Amino acid sequence: MQVPAADLYARFREHETELRAAMDAVLRGNRYILGPAVERFEQAFADYLSVSYCVGVANGTDAVALALLGLGIGAGDEVICPAMTAPGTALGIMRAGAKPVFADVDEGTRCLDPQSVEQSIGKRTAAIVVVHMHGNVAPVQTLLGIARRHALCLIEDAAQAHGATCEGQKLGTFGDAAAFSFYPTKNLGCLGDAGVVVTSDATVAQRIRRLRNCGWNADRVSIEAGFNSRLDELQAAVLNVLLPWLDHENGRRRVLAERYKRELAGLPLGLPAHGDGAVFHQFAVLSEDRTRFRSWLQAGGIGTDVHYSMGLHQMPAFPKARLPVTDFLAKRLVSLPIQPQVAEMHIDRIIERIRSYEWRQ
Ligand SMILES: *Cc1c(COP(=O)(O)O)cnc(C)c1O
Repeated sequence: MQVPAADLYARFREHETELRAAMDAVLRGNRYILGPAVERFEQAFADYLSVSYCVGVANGTDAVALALLGLGIGAGDEVICPAMTAPGTALGIMRAGAKPVFADVDEGTRCLDPQSVEQSIGKRTAAIVVVHMHGNVAPVQTLLGIARRHALCLIEDAAQAHGATCEGQKLGTFGDAAAFSFYPTKNLGCLGDAGVVVTSDATVAQRIRRLRNCGWNADRVSIEAGFNSRLDELQAAVLNVLLPWLDHENGRRRVLAERYKRELAGLPLGLPAHGDGAVFHQFAVLSEDRTRFRSWLQAGGIGTDVHYSMGLHQMPAFPKARLPVTDFLAKRLVSLPIQPQVAEMHIDRIIERIRSYEWRQ
C-alpha cells in the first residue's frame, strides 16, 4: 500500500459529521460573510492563544500584509524576513508596500539566525517578520530583544505553528502582531483559504478590522484604501469544529516526531532542532543525496515532499541576497510523512525503509 506524503480528506473525515452539520447551519443562517461563526472563531482563537484581539482575514498572505499595515508599516520601509519560507511571507510584505530584506537561517531550527538579522538592519528597516518554520520554535525572545533595541516591530508568521509554545507561552503572542494561515494542510486547516491576525493592541486590531473590509468606517465610508480580505462564514464554521482538536492533533504529531528522532538518531540525516514546544507541521531531515534518498523511499511506496527546494531570494519575484545556509538547506531538506492520519499507520514501515537505505557519505 502506498503511503502518500499527505492525505487531506483523511484528516477531515475524522470530523465529517460535525463538519457537515456546521456547514449546514451556515447555509440556513442567511449570513455568509463576517457573521456569527467568524465572531465566534475570532473569540475562540484569541482565548486559545491568550491574546486580546483576533481579526479574521482571507488568507495567511493577507494576514502578513494587514499585520504590517495595521502597525503603520508600508511604502518606503524595509522588513527583514527569511527566504526559507512560503512565498506568502515575502508577498505579504510586498502587498503592504514594503520591501523584504532576506536574512539567513539556522541549519538546525531552519528559522531566522539572530546574527544574520542584526547584520541586515539598515536605516529603512521598520520590522522583522520571524517564521516558525515547520512548526519549529524560532528564537523569538532573542529577536524581540533585537527588535526593541533598534525600535523595530516584531511580527510572527505563525502559519506553520498553531498551538506551538516557547517556555509555555503560545507562539503568535510574543511580538507586536502575528499572522496565521488556515490553508488546508496547516496544523489547523479549513476547506479553503482563511487566515487571522492576532495582536494585543486595540488600536492595531481596529485598524486591521477596517483594512480587511474596504477601509470602511462605521458609516461604510472608505476612509483609506482597504482590502477585500474577509473570512467566510463557511470556513469559520469549519475552524470552530476543528479548533478544539488542535492540541490533540499536535500531540499525535509530537508522538510521531519523537519516534523519528529516536529511531533515526545516528544515521547521516540532519534532524531538526525543533524546540520543546514545537508542533511538527513538517518533520524535515537533511539528506546529502536527496534525489536518490527520495527515490529509495518512493520505490518502497513512501511519498515525501520538499519544503522548500529554493529560497525566495532565488526566485525572480523577490530581491536577491547571499544566504549560504538557506541554499544549503534548499538542496537537502526532505519532509517525511507526519500527518497523523497517514503516518500513524505506516511509521514502522517508513523507519524500516529509511534504516535499510544504502548510505554513501
Ligand atoms: C502557508 C504560509 C503562508 C501563506 O498562507 P496562505 O494562507 O497560503 O496565504 C505564509 N507564511 C507561511 C510560513 C506559510 O506556511
